[in-house]
Amino acid sequence: MPDTYTNFRELQLHEQEDRDYRIKTSRNWHSVIIVAPHGGNIEPYTSQIAKWIAGEDIAWYSFEGIKDVDIRRLHITSHNFDEPSLLQGLQQAQTVMTIHGLKNSIEEFLMIGGLDSTLRNELRVALQDHGFIVKESEQRYRGERATNICNRGCTGKGVQLEISFALRKRIFEDAECRVQFIDTIRSLIKYH
Ligand SMILES: [Zn+2]
Repeated sequence: MPDTYTNFRELQLHEQEDRDYRIKTSRNWHSVIIVAPHGGNIEPYTSQIAKWIAGEDIAWYSFEGIKDVDIRRLHITSHNFDEPSLLQGLQQAQTVMTIHGLKNSIEEFLMIGGLDSTLRNELRVALQDHGFIVKESEQRYRGERATNICNRGCTGKGVQLEISFALRKRIFEDAECRVQFIDTIRSLIKYH
């Protein structure tokens, strides 16, 4: 399904902040930032997962759909997502990780994309070691475009996690699974 809006300005002309969407960020800055560009009801649980990974010490940003109808209209695809306050913040970010949701509600898995192949591989190995299923990224989830929001930090390369609905739900509901997932990722990105 194509997006309704091709950039943030267009979205802003038709949607109202704090009624249809809201932007939330951590209070403190950090050279690592976790971003949920399709948070709130757009890709459920992604905002929460981004905040959990960030914890108290890493920066996070969440663009959240909060209206009840036509929520899909608020989805601006990753290589078009250009909300100004995020772009400004990213200029100083060394490590950028974005959190996305895939629709699959049966299988628990994730795909890792983005141009930072080193971090991508480290994450894949560590998550697989902890029993998570990491699938080969399909072409459209590879996050290889330079304008993909995960690649717009100061190094020009970041990572994106595409997490199936089934796995997001489990991370949300199962505390043990959540700790495994969050800690594995945090231990890698904090000092990347
Ligand atoms: Zn997404």
